[in-house]
Amino acid sequence: MHPDLARADERIRRAERIDDADALALWEHATDDELSELATMARARFHSPGHATWVVMAILNYTNVCVARCDYCAFYKFPGEDGTYLLTFDELSRRIDTVLGLGGQLIGFNGGFHPDLTVDDYCTLFRQLHQKYGDRCAFYEMTIAEFMFVSKRSHLSYAESARRFAEAGTRWITGGGAEILTDAFRLRHSPGKYRVEDYYDAQRAVLDAGLGSTATMVIGFDESIDERIEHLSRLRRFQDEEGGRLASFLCWTYKPFHTELGGAEVSTREYLRHLALCRIYLDNIVNIRTSVLTRNQDAMLGLRFGANDFDLPTEDEVTQKAGATVSLDFEAILGAARRAGFVPTQREGYITRPPPPAPPPQAGEGR
Ligand code: SF4
Repeated sequence: MHPDLARADERIRRAERIDDADALALWEHATDDELSELATMARARFHSPGHATWVVMAILNYTNVCVARCDYCAFYKFPGEDGTYLLTFDELSRRIDTVLGLGGQLIGFNGGFHPDLTVDDYCTLFRQLHQKYGDRCAFYEMTIAEFMFVSKRSHLSYAESARRFAEAGTRWITGGGAEILTDAFRLRHSPGKYRVEDYYDAQRAVLDAGLGSTATMVIGFDESIDERIEHLSRLRRFQDEEGGRLASFLCWTYKPFHTELGGAEVSTREYLRHLALCRIYLDNIVNIRTSVLTRNQDAMLGLRFGANDFDLPTEDEVTQKAGATVSLDFEAILGAARRAGFVPTQREGYITRPPPPAPPPQAGEGR
């Protein structure tokens, strides 16, 4: 075994925290079987072996108007272009009703950076939605990226904006729109979106207002392994600083079709290896989720590479426009989970906000 890999392997087996050099060694030298075994070991510190949870959810894209111009996005239209839309409350309600009819329990909203929408507009919408649907479904009301944009547009601090959202009944502002959280990546591909420190300042304000949030990542653009590890490193530090308040981590893969950036999709093997690395590295995030939306049935193999939870998605125009395909044959996907050796159990709409995990020992500390 390569000496760097041997050191990383020993740390993981002792339940010690790995460092960036260990992560690189795992990526470069571990076999698929080794990564699967080590990730399964790390998963077992939080979850029963052989069990996984799932939820039916939709991501409803309420507007495709966006001024950010990310080069990896096939979804947006610039204001004034043909084909722009902004859904009304009634149109959104009809879409939600359709998802509920399919057994959906969780509705996420994700739209572009619409220059005419304000925090008050969103608050009005979220109040109406909670009034109409009550406990019939759970909502992921918006993403950190949208939150940052609308806060700035409304000339409000993140703290004030988060306070107003909380008052309007908002429960979750998820970590969507993170892609690769390094400033070099952001400058290359979406200079109009945000800088990394700004992203975490916004997420901290959201958590401080008592809202739930999550972590996300997307791989497969042109990012280097060092950038992937930088993303994980900053995220793990944030989760330490915040006492484990991020409820889950979801990684999916870039879909390159009809985008300005183009490129090719990463293989399932690369996705699974990365997922294993995430489970091992992110020792302070309890729930690691695998992406059916971008990997279809292959996502179930992610359960062998450290993931413990997944969505059965019914729609998401953003990824579908770039080449993702959605299947409503949920039984086929659950069958793939069983064939991978897991008992899949349906869960409540919201993934539980976990208690802060005990800080893991640093390398060299006790077992
Ligand atoms: S990824 Fe989001 S922020 Fe970027 S252009 Fe697309 S809709 Fe806009």
